[in-house]
Amino acid sequence: MDRLDQVYIAGRFRAAHGREELERIDPTTEEPTGILVMADAHDAGLAVDSARDAFAGFSRTSRRERIDLLHALADAVAARAGALTEATVAEYGAPMEQARWRAGLAAGNFRLAARLLEDFAFERRVGGSTVIAQPVGVAVHIVPWNSVYNAISVKLAGALAAGCTVVVKASEFSGLQNQLFAECLDAAGMPPGVVNIVSGRGDVAGEALTGHPDVRKISFTGSNAVGKSILRKSADRLPRVTLELGGKAPTVVLDDADLADAAVKALAIAFANNGQACIAGTRALVQRRQLASFCTAIEAASSTIVTGDPREPGTTMGPLVNRRQFERVQGYIRMGLAEGARPVIGGEGRPRGLDRGYFVRPTVFTDVTSDMTIAREEIFGPVLCVIGYEDEDHAAQIANDTPFGLHAYVIGEDDRARAFARRIDAGRVAINGVAHDPEAPFGGFRESGIGREYGVFGIEDHLELKAILGR
Ligand code: NAD
Repeated sequence: MDRLDQVYIAGRFRAAHGREELERIDPTTEEPTGILVMADAHDAGLAVDSARDAFAGFSRTSRRERIDLLHALADAVAARAGALTEATVAEYGAPMEQARWRAGLAAGNFRLAARLLEDFAFERRVGGSTVIAQPVGVAVHIVPWNSVYNAISVKLAGALAAGCTVVVKASEFSGLQNQLFAECLDAAGMPPGVVNIVSGRGDVAGEALTGHPDVRKISFTGSNAVGKSILRKSADRLPRVTLELGGKAPTVVLDDADLADAAVKALAIAFANNGQACIAGTRALVQRRQLASFCTAIEAASSTIVTGDPREPGTTMGPLVNRRQFERVQGYIRMGLAEGARPVIGGEGRPRGLDRGYFVRPTVFTDVTSDMTIAREEIFGPVLCVIGYEDEDHAAQIANDTPFGLHAYVIGEDDRARAFARRIDAGRVAINGVAHDPEAPFGGFRESGIGREYGVFGIEDHLELKAILGR
């Protein structure tokens, strides 16, 4: 069995000081695949020391040196795209095509930061003063197990462009992906200490990092509960904190939409990454008179979902990441039934023929109201709630009736959909399908988080402004 027991600190791989072991399980087969030896507080402390020691030099590197480093990183991840993709499939069951696309995002994030850095204004005149943007200091990046390379690379791209040194605390459920990413850093010739990676428990390595006095920036992607606890604890030292948290995105189907097409899109938006996506559109808002036709269209469109081994070409829905997620999602499906929602497709239990692996039945509920638990909480699995609305005003009110505000989708005639998008309080609104723009800001309204990342916003997120007054 494969044993992962290394941390990447100060430019080299070394045995983790931590002793706690986590058994790694293939979610498709439920077979053990290896062990992760988790980094502990001592490893976290060494990683911060190394980032702090490297900061003085790295924060003064030239723009050109950092551009070259970002390109070297992009080359290194692109060269290993095959291995990165396979690790994603093996570790959390993303279908091959989606895993490949997501692995490819990392190189793009580094290249984009390199391009933006070419003419990024670190200094400008404002009134009678010179305003200088300087790197904030040692940054800690904490990321979850879904979309690992994109989450790490988008934060890292901004930090490196800004001139920050970094400790990445990657998820304990993505040990192999973290190890491969660290190998990319090494292959890219990362100067010692500029980026360090440890995989370990959040309440051990994570807390040691977020509470460390030498850390000036925390960028966290993960659950609301942990994000809020980090913010609470940071009140004592006031490191800069960016939080990318959960979502419950509405997919608003306007009444001029082609319902067959809208149903296919709504399923794709809800079920990408096996439903394990913070941006998943998990509330489909449909004009009340069209509800029955939309549900018929959903039944027809469900033939496009192929649940099974994520390694098989053609599979669109793999298993959930682990038993905990499996139980959690089954619990929400039971809760939906108990609350009076009616399954259009799916329901409790496993898909037929899949009696091992953490597979759940892709489920669409109708007869859902905005106050039901399944319509309010982030389920993080393939469960879509269909909610009826009366008119556009009502649709906008339901769309915004949520503690979240990360993402939204509108389906309908283009201009009308664009106009409606302005009424939704969410960090991103996609028109007529899934879209990604790595230059556009990403982040949440309300409890979906604080701050924005991606593109130039990710660079600004790692800078502190200083005004020098007078001539
Ligand atoms: P999680 O909050 O349990 O863990 C996220 C990371 O935080 C992991 O690396 C974990 O080890 C670490 N962590 C846990 N406790 C910690 C603590 N006390 N101190 C410091 N670090 C700690 O989330 P998860 O289950 O890994 O991921 C799923 C969640 O992430 C979902 O809620 C999802 O919406 C969210 N997410 C958000 C985005 C976004 O960009 N907004 C993207 C992907 C996932």
